[in-house]
This record gives sequence, structure tokens and C-alpha cells, in this order.
Amino acid sequence: MLNGSDRNLQKIKRRNEMAEITRYWRKPNPHNGSNMMKGIFKDIPATRVFDNLWFIGNDMFGCYVMKSSEGLIMLDCMDRGFMGYLEGKIIEAGLDPADLKAILITHGHADHYGDADKFREKYGCKVYMTQVDEEFANDPANARPGGKPMGFSMDGYLVPGESFVLGDTEVEIYSTPGHTPGCASFIFTVYDCGRPYKAMMWGGTGPNKALEKVYQQIESVYYFDKVCFEKGVAVEIPNHPFADNFIEKMELLKVLVDGVPHPMIIGYEGVHSLMLMFKGLYDQAVEKRKSGDKSNNF
Ligand SMILES: [Zn+2]
Repeated sequence: MLNGSDRNLQKIKRRNEMAEITRYWRKPNPHNGSNMMKGIFKDIPATRVFDNLWFIGNDMFGCYVMKSSEGLIMLDCMDRGFMGYLEGKIIEAGLDPADLKAILITHGHADHYGDADKFREKYGCKVYMTQVDEEFANDPANARPGGKPMGFSMDGYLVPGESFVLGDTEVEIYSTPGHTPGCASFIFTVYDCGRPYKAMMWGGTGPNKALEKVYQQIESVYYFDKVCFEKGVAVEIPNHPFADNFIEKMELLKVLVDGVPHPMIIGYEGVHSLMLMFKGLYDQAVEKRKSGDKSNNF
């Protein structure tokens, strides 16, 4: 004869078994495939992630502002229509959008160049991406479904193998094609309580729809991972923060006290494991593309 507590345990066990049968233990990813651009985005507070770097994006688009001795540099620019959001976030960060001097864009997709042209018009800042992706983004054939080509030009180009320099701040540019033909990844210095660390930003997150370009993304992962090793990169900064729990890592920053490790300083080993995560994403995409499935697998 079961007592009340045993009966209750049995009930919980049975319920868990049923749950196991009927659903996968992970929650569905709201950013997956067709859900990706539905536009239900979480507002994320502007967050200082390093002495010289603030996150000013949302859960979908990673966007950052970096302070140099000669003004602010924005890394990526969110999507079309997000200018007001970004201006608000720069102010929330305690900075002034009028100090914006340059916008560096990882690649020629609308959710990265956003309203860079409008920022230029209003604040006189200069806008940069690679020449290859400027051409790519202005070709109507590459506009997203229902969208328009970029429709504006750069003030200068990001040249792979060279650096973008503003005052005391340098952003190294690397060619990592596959996501787009001229996709660039960045390496720059961040400071934690004055101590410098090399940080990287992987330029293109999602797997390309074309199989041969997914292979190119895998090649780019190997190449950039090697660069990160050689440069001693210890920090990874995502341009899509849902891809690596960056929003949750920023939560940890709120309770960070002196003497405790910074959650984003992960050493080359940590950076390497994130590069392998991207490779895993592309490996899965290879299998999908071979079977004719063009969806993303976030
Ligand atoms: Zn993209």
C-alpha cells in the first residue's frame, strides 16, 4: 500500500516519463530558421562589457561601441530601422552619439549595415566594410526576400591583412568568406581594469544556403582559429549574441566584483571551443544542404 508521499513521487515520475517522450529537453530556439526575422526582439540594456567596449544591441543583433582617444567606433549597426534604438543605447551607455567617428561593418547583410548611411548623414561619421561586400550588398540579386539592395557606398574599405586605426585604437581586419564573399572578422584590444586582452569578432554567423559556401565557411573557421591562436586571442565578441549565450554572460557582469574572473575572458582555449561550435553549426549545415534543406540550424 503506497502512502501519500510515494503516490506523489510516482505521479512525478510518470509525468517526467511522458514529458521525455513528448518533448526534447531543450526549449525551441526562437531565433531558428523562419523565426529568425519575425522581429520580436528583446530590449537589452546597454552594457559595459570592458573598459572600452559597450554592448548596444538586442538579443538578435550584436552591436558594440568602442571608445578610442579620437571618438567612438561602432562595430556593426543592427538592422534597417534600428537607428533610434541605437542612439538611445549609446546615450544609455553614458556616451554621446555625436562622438561617433566610424562604423565598421563585418559584412554586407542588412542586419549588420542597418542605418549606417543615416548615422553618417546625422553625425558625419564614416562607414566602412570590405569592397567585395559593398559590391555584394549593392547587387539586387543579393537582397533578402522582399528587401532592397544596400543603396549606399562606403567612405573607405576594410582591407584584409590591414588595420583600421582611430587614435589609440586599432581593429585588425581578416578575410573570412563563406557567409558572404567579403565577410570580415575583427581582432582588437579590450581592457579589463586596465589590463589588455585580445578580442575577436567572427564576421558571419549563420550557415550559407549554398553547400560550396558552407565549405568555404569551414575553411574560414580553420584559418581564423589559427590567427586567434597566433595572436593569443582570449575574448570572443559575437555579432549575433543568441549564438553563444552572450546575453546570459552579460547578466554575470552585473554581479562581477573585484578579484573574480571576467566571464568573457576565456583564453585561446575558450575561443577555440567557440570556433569549433561555429564549425559544428556548418558541419550540420553541410548535411542539410546535401539533402536539399536550406534552413539554418541555430
Ligand atoms: Zn549575415
